[in-house]
Amino acid sequence: MKSFLAGIFALFSLTVFGLPTAKGLEHLSIAGSEYVRLADWAASTGFKIKWIKKNEQLEVRSPSLRLDFTVDSRKSEIGAVTIMLSLPMVVRNGTPLISLTDVESTIQPILFPQKNPKQHLKIICLDPGHGGKDTGKIDKKNLEKKYTLLLAQEVAALLQKNGFKVILTRNSDQTLELSDRAFIARRNSADLFVSLHYNAAGTPDVRGVEVYCLTPPGFNSSNDGGGKSDRHAYAGNVNNDHNVMLGYQMLKTIIRALPIEDRGLKRSRFEVLREARMPAILIEGGFMTSPLDSRLVYDATFRKRMAQAVVDGIISYRKLTEGSDEKLQIPTSKHQ
Ligand SMILES: [Zn+2]
Repeated sequence: MKSFLAGIFALFSLTVFGLPTAKGLEHLSIAGSEYVRLADWAASTGFKIKWIKKNEQLEVRSPSLRLDFTVDSRKSEIGAVTIMLSLPMVVRNGTPLISLTDVESTIQPILFPQKNPKQHLKIICLDPGHGGKDTGKIDKKNLEKKYTLLLAQEVAALLQKNGFKVILTRNSDQTLELSDRAFIARRNSADLFVSLHYNAAGTPDVRGVEVYCLTPPGFNSSNDGGGKSDRHAYAGNVNNDHNVMLGYQMLKTIIRALPIEDRGLKRSRFEVLREARMPAILIEGGFMTSPLDSRLVYDATFRKRMAQAVVDGIISYRKLTEGSDEKLQIPTSKHQ
């Protein structure tokens, strides 16, 4: 009965609020993938599109928000936060097109966050990457496993101050299998899963923060040069919209609060994300191989600021998802 009523409520909400949907738009097949005209989608959501540089860069804008797209690129921006699309924005016969998957799985969940009246975000599972025999990245004597734990402990203390219950997948230099991490979150009925890591690259000039959430089924992850990884659906895909919302709020909060480069909201099939049964993200909080980033990563004062930004990201996600639908801002839609 409860789920029946929830279903009726969901149907009622959709009918009343007229959530924008790309389903009613004409689909075009580009290299085997479904695309829609960016102008059609923009019109259906009350946004306007404008070329910044003809056939190179365009913006899609509402009075309060701007999206930026680059032709033949997966790199885009929503509200000045970098988003890696699953497929590039393309132009055919002078018409800008965007993939249906990017509209439905990435852009719309960010622009039109859905509240969950049943959700009370209370238990947060923090996962300090690596540990024990698994050192993670190594920069001279500095081991990633040490800094992920230090950050997790800072975040945990701040979350507790804010009334959250915190589960740490490890609270010491302990070896932990990847499969154990998602299991610990599940066993403790965590409402959210946040994995903490630091990055490394072959050259010292690569720097910045990346936030990952699970790749949509059927698509390549952001860093798959050859696209060789499997494209299966996993348990974590059930929470796609909330994974993306959480990832976006987290990245936005971090790059606005801290002097660290924005490398984007990306997609990956990391095991901890695949197996999470609750909204889940993985934060790569800077490059240990960059002199600029590593100075911050190893600094206790900066770590406290990073921890505060992570907590603020969780709180801003909670504000968007908790409670009723009353305050949800829905632009006028022609496709109801
Ligand atoms: Zn790592």
